Amino acid sequence: MIEKIYGNAFFLETIKGMFSSGRIAHSFLIYGEKGLGKKTAADYLAAALLCEKGSGVPCGECRSCRNAAMHIHPDIIYPEHSGKLNTYTVETCRKVCSDSYIAPNNGSAKVYVFADADNIQLPAQNALLKIVEEPPSFVYFIFTAGSRDAFLPTIISRVTSLGISRCSTDECAAALAYKGYDSSQISEAMDNFGGNIGMCAEYIENAGLRTIAALTKRAADSIIIRDEYGLLTVMSSPELKERQSALLFLEMLDRIIRDSLLLKLGGTGSLISCYGKGAERLTQRISVRSAGKIHEFINRAAADIKANVSPVLLMSALCGEIMNS
Ligand SMILES: [Zn+2]
Repeated sequence: MIEKIYGNAFFLETIKGMFSSGRIAHSFLIYGEKGLGKKTAADYLAAALLCEKGSGVPCGECRSCRNAAMHIHPDIIYPEHSGKLNTYTVETCRKVCSDSYIAPNNGSAKVYVFADADNIQLPAQNALLKIVEEPPSFVYFIFTAGSRDAFLPTIISRVTSLGISRCSTDECAAALAYKGYDSSQISEAMDNFGGNIGMCAEYIENAGLRTIAALTKRAADSIIIRDEYGLLTVMSSPELKERQSALLFLEMLDRIIRDSLLLKLGGTGSLISCYGKGAERLTQRISVRSAGKIHEFINRAAADIKANVSPVLLMSALCGEIMNS
């Protein structure tokens, strides 16, 4: 079965609209935060592009849709990540370019899905530029990434960008119940990642994520009551010595600061952190200026960790910077 897309009316309507107007783009970028189902959306779009009914909604019944649902469609191609950065290399992109001129196997078109293209380097993007601009008439490209920032402006200007957003709490709860989780698991997960089905499922399945979420909340609480020792204790937890966990912690803490700033400025966007209540309390404690500074410090620390500086070295310095801002 082709997986259902929850919420995201804009995404679904845009695709349907292209089919009804007969003006179907050839290159797409599906972007949005982790857990929102960008790859599911890419699979859905690929199936829609190749569905024999051609309505913009995969029918789920034709041969093409059935093959797409089972991930055995010979004309839906998923180039592989490789190399040191585990991404799409120049060689892979060049191969796709030459392969794309070969006619489809089965249907009338073929689709290349570049999932998780966040780390795709500039030379690889340059290798794709021409083909993305002028693809053979039977070729489509779909990229997925956390944000549009990973791409050259020249690529961005040639793709149709489709943002994937969180779904409503009702839809999120329904999707999690459909996956077989019980109501207490669902309510705890939604407390942290409401509207993000993938992150909610990850929260239920992955004890590591539950630990990091708990540490992030304790860190926010320490900032709220200005408890420097408490913050230092959290930030020197053994769980945060590993790079990926430290980065996740910083990302989640940064979101609480972001939410707090949004509330402070009276913004109307939705909250994206795992701790809405904490963000609300934090608004009483920090100024707009210090929130901005904390955001900068957190991002600099994250950049250093990505550049291979040990999280252990950074955390105590960051703790001091946060408390002094
Ligand atoms: Zn179909």
